[in-house]
Amino acid sequence: MTRWAMLINLDRCIGCGACAVACGMHNRVDTNSWRRVFDCGQGPAPERLHLYVPMSCMHCADPPCHKVCPTTATYIRSDGIVEIDLAKCIGCGYCMVACPYLARVLLHHNETAFVEDLLSPGGHARRKRDPYQGVCTKCNFCRERIEKGLSQGLRPGVDKPATPACVINCTSDALAFGDLEDPDSPVSRILAAQPVCALQPELNTRPYLFYIHTRGDGEV
Ligand code: SF4
Ligand code: SF4
Repeated sequence: MTRWAMLINLDRCIGCGACAVACGMHNRVDTNSWRRVFDCGQGPAPERLHLYVPMSCMHCADPPCHKVCPTTATYIRSDGIVEIDLAKCIGCGYCMVACPYLARVLLHHNETAFVEDLLSPGGHARRKRDPYQGVCTKCNFCRERIEKGLSQGLRPGVDKPATPACVINCTSDALAFGDLEDPDSPVSRILAAQPVCALQPELNTRPYLFYIHTRGDGEV
């Protein structure tokens, strides 16, 4: 069995947003749609306590988005990735309301596709076929990279071509990814060495995006 998980070290994140840009470019969605970096700093400059919190789908083990989906478009894979069957999604937006982490977006106009359309001949027709327009979308841990990498014998989280785009493009080594069932994966080794937390654990969604935050009171 496999259980993919991501770890974000808030002590290291500098809020540059490179992960959000890489996510948008790799997945052909708008920057800051599948992944966003929130400035949660406190106090006035120059003493301001800097705290940047990258967020995306938490791939919850008990996801509210899954429970409310009326068409079963949202499903949970055996490796823990919460995925959306775009052919089944009717764009009702129930899941967007149910997700407590604001992880889902309904793309009526995918600006990334639009810019490419402007620059390329025949782009208007392609834009109409954009699979993400009119349906709910969100981070899927770059599952195509994972699946292609696995088929080539690579280790997601260790080998860059098999690892989510945000992780390999982080400027500050703040992100880690891997299989929680593998004790030797980057995520497992970090979790074994130091305490981590999840966002809003009181909701019992059981997220598989973990955070390290040792500054302040440790609460995110
Ligand atoms: Fe669903 Fe939101 Fe959890 Fe992702 S973070 S699995 S969209 S409830
Ligand atoms: Fe933080 Fe790394 Fe994302 Fe920059 S790329 S905002 S340092 S997580």
